[in-house]
Amino acid sequence: AITLKQVQKTFSDGTLALKPLDLHIEKGEILVLLGPSGCGKTTTLRLIAGLEFCDQGGQILFGDRDVTSIAIEQRRVGMVFQSYALFPNMNVSENIAYGLRVRGESKALKEKKVQEMLTLFDLEPYAERGIDQLSGGQRQRVALARAIITEPEVLLLDEPLSALDALLKKRLRTDINALLKRLGITAVYVTHDQEEAMAMGDRIAVLDRGDIAQIGTAEDIYLSPKSEFVANFIGQMN
Ligand code: ATP
Repeated sequence: AITLKQVQKTFSDGTLALKPLDLHIEKGEILVLLGPSGCGKTTTLRLIAGLEFCDQGGQILFGDRDVTSIAIEQRRVGMVFQSYALFPNMNVSENIAYGLRVRGESKALKEKKVQEMLTLFDLEPYAERGIDQLSGGQRQRVALARAIITEPEVLLLDEPLSALDALLKKRLRTDINALLKRLGITAVYVTHDQEEAMAMGDRIAVLDRGDIAQIGTAEDIYLSPKSEFVANFIGQMN
């Protein structure tokens, strides 16, 4: 489980991006952070990743390990971004193997794990291909494979589907949800898309100007919005 206690973030220019936030993500749970531009979704994700550090007094736990002042390399997180951020000079297999290479794992282990990932993501025919020869959906699958090959404690996804067309988006969100569930992966998924949040999240945290406006299941939030902000934001769904 991942726990945030009174996690607050002020940037050096004085911007208060997150008000003190408490959040608990169960093992195997997919929590969606949903909200309009600038509400603090990416900041929350970067704090969990260890790409930013929270203000004094906040605490972040991975299981019972306090990682508050621990850097990203020691946190065991996997990340998938909107722009795939794959390495253009490496083929599909090399991209997927990257995290294991950095850790200095053996060739045998790398080959075995990469093969597992290629199978899992239906990428076998593309193993030797360059990234520029893949479709958007295939790239996103490579990005996911690369993020989970190291068996992270938490998978962090920031608008992973936003660069894709509507049809592919719909298909991939169902696929990704099924896969994460099957593997029991704990994940935090950032989106500003209400429909995507509903399809993806076991629970959804709706953020409003650095604060949690409501947290609950899709049904809770859809049927009983706690504030006008939540009602309006969810109401924009079509
Ligand atoms: P979007 O959907 O547009 O990506 P978001 O919900 O992810 O938005 P954040 O990127 O977390 O929002 O930003 C939250 C607030 O913090 C915004 O007001 C933003 O301008 C501010 N902010 C983010 N990064 C910095 C920074 N490095 N320095 C100062 N302010 C920042």
